[in-house]
Amino acid sequence: MTELSNEILLKGYGFVDKYAVKRNWEELPPGCCIEDAGCGIAYQTGDWRSERPVIDFDRCVHCFICWVYCPDASILAKDGKILGVDLYHCKGCGVCATECPRKCISMVDEASALREEAVAK
Ligand code: SF4
Ligand code: SF4
Repeated sequence: MTELSNEILLKGYGFVDKYAVKRNWEELPPGCCIEDAGCGIAYQTGDWRSERPVIDFDRCVHCFICWVYCPDASILAKDGKILGVDLYHCKGCGVCATECPRKCISMVDEASALREEAVAK
């Protein structure tokens, strides 16, 4: 993940997902066509997730193994430190948890985590 995209994500996804805007059927893009060149950063893939990774920062040694292995570039890092997980894009595959040599990433139930977040607000 580039420094720029990290900055965008850390500021709270300060971009507009143009496909999230409601359109009528005449305004929908044709199926199976890629309208613009680009990357998956504009697509919210995190809502497919049934489990989410939680990093125990007391045990993390910032080795970047999870960052290297994540297939969705969803491990956030800056200045040589792991900062957390981009939950907008993380699909919950669990590769990071499997590969972490310190075993300090736990996969937790997404629905339970969302409930806890709602209660905490
Ligand atoms: S792989 Fe584990 S120890 Fe290494 S940076 Fe990721 S969470 Fe930390
Ligand atoms: S669960 Fe999968 S997509 Fe999410 S941060 Fe870990 S490796 Fe990346």
